[in-house]
Amino acid sequence: MPSVTYQKDLLSGDPLWAGSSSPVRTRSLNESIRADVVIVGGGISGALMAYALTSRYDNVVLVDRRPPAHGSTLASTAMLQFEIDTPLRELRDKIGPKAARAWRRSYAATQDLIALIQVENIRCGLATRNSLYLAGNTLGARGLKAEWAARRRIGLPGDYLSAATLRDEYGIQRTGAIASPGSASANPVQLATGLLRKAVAQGLKIYAPVQVNDVMATKHGVVLDAGDHFIEARHCVFCTGYEMLKTVPTRGTKITSSWAIASRPHAQYPAWLDRTLVWEAADPYLYIRTTPDGRLIVGGEDEDIDLASYRFRSLARKSARLVAKANALLPETKIIASQRWTGAFGESDDGLPIIDAVPGLPHCYTVMGFGGNGTIYSLIAAQIMPTLLQGRPDKDVDLYRFRGA
Ligand SMILES: Cc1cc2nc3c(=O)[nH]c(=O)nc-3n(C[C@H](O)[C@H](O)[C@H](O)COP(=O)(O)OP(=O)(O)OC[C@H]3O[C@@H](n4cnc5c(N)ncnc54)[C@H](O)[C@@H]3O)c2cc1C
Repeated sequence: MPSVTYQKDLLSGDPLWAGSSSPVRTRSLNESIRADVVIVGGGISGALMAYALTSRYDNVVLVDRRPPAHGSTLASTAMLQFEIDTPLRELRDKIGPKAARAWRRSYAATQDLIALIQVENIRCGLATRNSLYLAGNTLGARGLKAEWAARRRIGLPGDYLSAATLRDEYGIQRTGAIASPGSASANPVQLATGLLRKAVAQGLKIYAPVQVNDVMATKHGVVLDAGDHFIEARHCVFCTGYEMLKTVPTRGTKITSSWAIASRPHAQYPAWLDRTLVWEAADPYLYIRTTPDGRLIVGGEDEDIDLASYRFRSLARKSARLVAKANALLPETKIIASQRWTGAFGESDDGLPIIDAVPGLPHCYTVMGFGGNGTIYSLIAAQIMPTLLQGRPDKDVDLYRFRGA
């Protein structure tokens, strides 16, 4: 069946979170239905969107061609970072003074997501974390210090660490780092399914497997072709991750590949790692986090290739490289990979997502949460969408528009 979105092998290998949540109950689409809002996609973006919209609309429906949280969300290493992939100073060069707003919004959204998980008591291994952003081949000590100063000037928290402090406090040999509070880590599948269960309790109906083959917008709303049946709604929000709508402009965005490994539980590593997300100003970059049961997760090695066969065939080689790099960075640690996986990964030139109305399709909106902090962008989308659906502008909506057709 032709699909209104691209169809991809989003991930392969042995993702750590598979089977970590009991399945969310879904319905079969046995007849044509009507809704106030239909959300296409049941990953973390769709889950946050459903949670936000079910408290505002009586009849919200979510459809997915896979079981919930079986797309890219299953591959995510779920570092919940306020730091955007594009450093503040570089973003300012690209988009001007608006860069400060983008960074501040990302910080605020990260705190909002942490608070939401805590208030709703969603069991997803949430752990608040500092982040340690190490000097690397894209920003050395001098560049990192300037970045830290720029962040401070716009009110973001963090300290600059010299090479000596890094060596003495962390045993890491790098020329400098920025240490910032305010980030977190979680289990992305438990987070998405936990949110979906909350939304179901508020009235959400989830239909899966249901593929949206086509969409037609009328002046009254939208009609989705879902195979044997139709879904009519006032609004439609496409939260289809890296399987984007085929008709939307993709300028300034690309789909790449990323790899990750996890160790067994109770691995040996320095105690500070349980308080810290580590990543580096490097291309390709490396990042490290831990889990509540004492596993190390190491990820990165991204490449500008979107080929599922290449991703899978490179899994052994990329995993070995991730382990070697992490072991070199943390000399007290001997990482042995017990699980390895790989997935499609989205990037945009400015590191910001797209949260916007779909050009040429009235009543339709899309969320394309690119970048290493995609989960934070999914939350920003869920914060912005209710105002967009009411035809009112959010104060930051200009940051996340399509970058030109
Ligand atoms: C190795 C790796 C590590 C990562 N690490 C991090 C990290 O540390 N932190 C972070 O924030 N992000 C990370 N990411 C990115 C993160 O995975 C994504 O930002 C996030 O999962 C996107 O969620 P989503 O809900 O938008 O997409 P998905 O989870 O892919 O959900 C979209 C859903 O839409 C459905 N769909 C698509 N088209 C249709 C259609 N036509 N009809 C019906 N259903 C449809 C799909 O079946 C899918 O289930 C990582 C990604 C990878 C690959």
